[in-house]
Amino acid sequence: ILTIRNLRKSFGELSVLKGIDLTVVRGEVVSIIGASGSGKSTLLRCVNLLEEPDGGSVLFDGEDLSDPRTDLRALRERIGMVFQGFNLFQHKTVLENCMLPLTTVRRMKRAEAQQVAEQELERVGMYEFRDAHVDEISGGQAQRAAIARALCMRPEIMLFDEPTSALDPEKVGEVLNVIKALADSGMTMLIVTHEMQFADDVSDRVVFMDAGVICEEGPPSVVFRNPRQPRTKEFLSRYH
Ligand code: ATP
Ligand code: MG
Repeated sequence: ILTIRNLRKSFGELSVLKGIDLTVVRGEVVSIIGASGSGKSTLLRCVNLLEEPDGGSVLFDGEDLSDPRTDLRALRERIGMVFQGFNLFQHKTVLENCMLPLTTVRRMKRAEAQQVAEQELERVGMYEFRDAHVDEISGGQAQRAAIARALCMRPEIMLFDEPTSALDPEKVGEVLNVIKALADSGMTMLIVTHEMQFADDVSDRVVFMDAGVICEEGPPSVVFRNPRQPRTKEFLSRYH
């Protein structure tokens, strides 16, 4: 579903992505780990068109994102993204937040949008909080609502950028459980995370990024328990 070839991105003098090659097939869960500043967020942002690459290509379902004939708006609707911060409207209810992209971007009727939104809120265990305002709920609940909002668009792939790193430790588990359930339902996912145990549990493949390149990738059993690269070993040793 996603093919990244020789992707390069610099900010001024700073070369952040130095030729990334990565493929994600439908139904696959791929986690990206690596030190702060290694380029993980920049990679996700290039996939979601929030950053324009300097070179290389990103193909989503065979369509080249840099091809001027590609309908980027249509493509972006097929990609769900959840960030560290939840980017929800604080003064609106959970349900309204979820309905909004459906009634605006999709031009869906309110009744239909509500039905979809309630269904997705149910899926993340947030149905009972649908009428709460975002500023009244916890960070974990807000992040689950943000996941539901992304799911309302019925994306073909979900991108997560450190979805739990802004949460209180006791709220991390509820969000990881929701993502795990999504993985078990067959959703294709690309997840940047510092939660190594979670990445080990949920991933089909783990990618270790170091200074703008993929240093090592493979099944979690290899990357976490039998890494080939000294840099991977050194990075992982900081988590034990
Ligand atoms: P973290 O684990 O801290 O989130 P990361 O692996 O996600 O790190 P990136 O956010 O991709 O790293 O950033 C890689 C480098 O690019 C960093 O040195 C960062 O300062 C720089 N960078 C990222 N975005 C920009 C930008 N818009 N302008 C200038 N520099 C940027
Ligand atoms: Mg980041």
